[in-house]
Amino acid sequence: MCIFCKIIEGELPSSKVYEDEHIVAILDIAQVTYGHTLVIPKKHCSDILDADEETMIHIAKVLPKLTNQIVCNCKACGSHIISNQGAISGQTVDHLHFHIIPRYSEDDAII
Ligand code: 5GP
Ligand code: ZN
Repeated sequence: MCIFCKIIEGELPSSKVYEDEHIVAILDIAQVTYGHTLVIPKKHCSDILDADEETMIHIAKVLPKLTNQIVCNCKACGSHIISNQGAISGQTVDHLHFHIIPRYSEDDAII
């Protein structure tokens, strides 16, 4: 079982910020900026091509609202939404996920 599946099953701890039937959102273990969150489908799939349509439609609905909530709660100025697809792009966990990375006027994050 992959590391995110273990988190979803409760076998590994995480700081959960949102959960519904299809997805969980957890704080990244190595936050690039304050509030860096990962949105992860509960059903294992490795990338967007591997994800089922229902999952992708659900993510499309929830991701903007979640991003807005995180940006507001963290008092950020804006954000990145990033999903690495494949090792060549920097994907290190082979379970689809979307990074929400809040940005601040004074941060020195390298994305
Ligand atoms: P990727 O490099 O695949 O786009 O992103 C994987 C992300 O998962 C990284 O930002 C990394 O810090 C995060 N990550 C890896 N292992 C864990 C973990 O056990 N818990 C949490 N919360 N994040 C993790
Ligand atoms: Zn998985």
